[in-house]
Formats: sequence, C-alpha cells, structure tokens
Amino acid sequence: MTKELSKIIEDSINHLKFVKEYRPGKLNFNLPDLKIEVPEKPVVADKPKHVTKVVSKSELFREDWMDAESMPDLENLIKNCSKCALSKSRNNFVFGSGNLDADIVVVGEAPGSEEDLQGKPFVGRAGKLLTDILAAVDLNREDVFICNILKCRPPGNRNPQPDEILKCRHYLDKQLCLIHPKIILALGAFAAQTLLDTKEPLGKLRGQIFDYSVDGNLIKVIVTYHPAALLRNPNWKRPAWEDMKLFQKFYSELK
Ligand code: SF4
Repeated sequence: MTKELSKIIEDSINHLKFVKEYRPGKLNFNLPDLKIEVPEKPVVADKPKHVTKVVSKSELFREDWMDAESMPDLENLIKNCSKCALSKSRNNFVFGSGNLDADIVVVGEAPGSEEDLQGKPFVGRAGKLLTDILAAVDLNREDVFICNILKCRPPGNRNPQPDEILKCRHYLDKQLCLIHPKIILALGAFAAQTLLDTKEPLGKLRGQIFDYSVDGNLIKVIVTYHPAALLRNPNWKRPAWEDMKLFQKFYSELK
C-alpha cells in the first residue's frame, strides 16, 4: 500500500467519525480506530519457493547426447539420429568400433555399402587392407578405435554434403572427448580436410603433424590415403607406407 493511499483511507475514516459524532443516527455502524502504519520502504516479499533457472542460449540448444558420460551411453543416445536425410536411406547407423580407451583413433569418411549392411566401420576389402596397414605398424584393430566423420552411408557412396557434415561431425568430437586419444589417423582427403578445416589436397597434408583441438585437448593428426583409394590405385601404397612409418615413429616417441 502506498503512503498516499493509506492517508486517503485514514482521512476517510476520520471524516466518517466526524459525521457520526456531529450527525448521530446518520451512521449506524462502528468505525475502526484505525491508524495505518506505512513503512518508509516497500516490503519485499519472500523469494518464491521455485526458482526459475536462467537458461542461457547454449543451454537452450543442449541435447541429451552432449552429456553422455561413456561411449555406450553416447551410442544409445545417437543411434536413432534423424538430423539429416541419410537417416532415411541407411540400413544401419555405424557408430564405430574398437578400444574405447585407445591412444589412436582412425577416422574415415563415411560407411560404405558393406559397413551400412553390417553396422560396423571398415569391413569388406578396404577394411581388410586397413587391418593389414595397422598390422604393419604393430597394431591390431582392437588397439585403436575406428570410426567415420559420417555415421550413415551416403546413397551410392556419393560425397558427403556440407549439411550432413555439419550435423554429424559433433558426434565425432564427442567421441574424441570421451576417448581422449593422443593421435588421429585421418584416412583420405575428405576426413583430413574436414578435421583440419582446409581445402588443401591430400598430397599437401601428408608428411606433416597437425593439432586438432577438442574440448581443450590437443590431439595430433597424421594424414594418409584411404584404403579404398589404395585398392583403386596401388601406386599410392608406397607413399602410404611412408605415412605409416612417420605415424609409427611419432607414436613411439609419444608413448
Ligand atoms: S549422418 Fe549423422 S547427422 Fe545424419 S542421420 Fe546419420 S548420424 Fe544423424
């Protein structure tokens, strides 16, 4: 109640008292002996029991999978993803497979037809060649985690579209956050260009060691040919072997 309003009420009651006293019979009810105390400062009500959380813009766009605390949790939360059109044409979502605590994550482009059918990365002829390439540097598939930039197959093995990459690559980043690898072995131009955010051709990216930052952690990136490309062009096997020797040397120094 404002000071002005309490003054009006008080004046009204005093006026009615005056009428009652000097014109008896006019008013036949009792008037309160009212003196309204008005605090100098307005009273602030107690805080409500429920507190409205201030929601920042980034929280508004948070999705459940972002808070996954393990790889199995993450897979469960994203395996039915329908963020892009590839969800309609896929047979299987291909999360990736291997060591969930690996030092090395092998990243390819996208599932092919065999991967799409089996729901596993790098199966079929290219997968067999990848197994051989890893064995040549004393690694088993079980030592590393193998996955792709895209988790669903582009129809007819066409190139991934920019909107598909944009929507899907966050899943890869989350996988990298959970695994905490030391090195990414990027297979093929597409994986390398996506990870390194460049249009440089594969030939210019080979033979170097790059940094990839995810969630504040720096991961080293080494680039080589995709096994499917090596099957198409065996002349690239020699430079691919040079890449793997660089990879092996760098990894042994890092351990
Ligand atoms: S490709 Fe990635 S973004 Fe598109 S539906 Fe599959 S998981 Fe979702």
